[in-house]
Amino acid sequence: MYKILVLPGDGVGREVVGEAEKVLKKVASVAHLVFETKEAEVGGASIDRNGVPITADVLKQAKDSDAVLLGAVGGPKWDQLAYAVRPEQALLALRKELGLYANLRPATVDPSLIDVSTLKREIVEGVDILVVRELTGGIYFGTPKGIEKTRDGSERGFNTETYSTHEIERIALKAFELARKRRRKVVSVDKANILESSELWRRVVSGIGKRFPDVQLSHLYVDNCAMQLIRNPKQFDVIVTTNMFGDILSDEAAMLTGSIGMLPSASLGDTHALYEPVHGSAPDIAGKDQANPIATILSVAMMLRYTFQLHDLALAVEAAVRGVLKEGFRTQDLAEDSKQTVPCSKMGDLIVERIKH
Ligand code: NAD
Repeated sequence: MYKILVLPGDGVGREVVGEAEKVLKKVASVAHLVFETKEAEVGGASIDRNGVPITADVLKQAKDSDAVLLGAVGGPKWDQLAYAVRPEQALLALRKELGLYANLRPATVDPSLIDVSTLKREIVEGVDILVVRELTGGIYFGTPKGIEKTRDGSERGFNTETYSTHEIERIALKAFELARKRRRKVVSVDKANILESSELWRRVVSGIGKRFPDVQLSHLYVDNCAMQLIRNPKQFDVIVTTNMFGDILSDEAAMLTGSIGMLPSASLGDTHALYEPVHGSAPDIAGKDQANPIATILSVAMMLRYTFQLHDLALAVEAAVRGVLKEGFRTQDLAEDSKQTVPCSKMGDLIVERIKH
């Protein structure tokens, strides 16, 4: 029996998570498994009910579960609140509390969706990249940080990029282990020609690389990597990088694939894991049954693979998604003239029907 905490959140989060839960039910029935799911509120929904983006009780439930499935949080209703009580704080609290230091974002171009990409067919066809982003360190968390008054009456804003050996080692280990299950190539991205923190990053990643002689390691400066991702994305297998570089490069890699509605993610620690689509709560289409649920459904496939080690079932879900797209079904974000546009709930049903074990 597997315990899953389901946190739909706000906006389309509720709709896409509903479809992902249908997929979990179908997987459980074809494989004779039991997924014990519990649902709780986070983000704006939790602010409205409890006054905070996430309660201590929900954090405890997350800790007590084998995996967390999240939709998305946020929306215009809560945009005027102070940063400390905004819906997005729920995500930071979950990452911190569950020790989720590795963010995995696959960017795979589905053969049926090549023409949805803004890049040329010959550039994106066959792209299969996994970005492994460090999630709990670096400049987003480093101190000192702040905005201070200067003597001349002006102001100075500052943040600190900081990485310890241990933080680099554990994310590098994850990247190499993942590469072993793929095409055995790791590119580590840094700015070692300018930043001391990157100098350490490169040295430590190289050290870990020696333990994986079967995996090819190379290093790229972040500016070159940004360029190579557009020039020749097929050269990449696993990219491992810092929190901020990963934030930017994973969005860039994601857009090779066409729509944000297709992109799943996993955030892993040593003992816990959280799975969520890359997209936000999409207030512009929320409540209209128009969202693409595939990113969340593929996040369930990642959960089956990484937390439950149910590789066959992960492949079965991915095959069902591919099948539906091959048959020409599209949600609005993927719509091409000749294709059949279906609502979010129908897309979920079509995928569920095609899951076979
Ligand atoms: P967004 O990802 O919500 O939307 C960007 C665009 O993509 C919109 O046009 C939207 O309609 C479209 N889109 C997003 N998901 C889609 C889907 N599943 N199917 C079809 N189209 C989809 O980003 P945003 O507009 O910048 O942010 C909206 C809210 O979401 C904000 O409050 C933001 O803070 C929040 N947000 C939350 C997360 C998260 O929970 N992890 C991530 C990003 C943004």
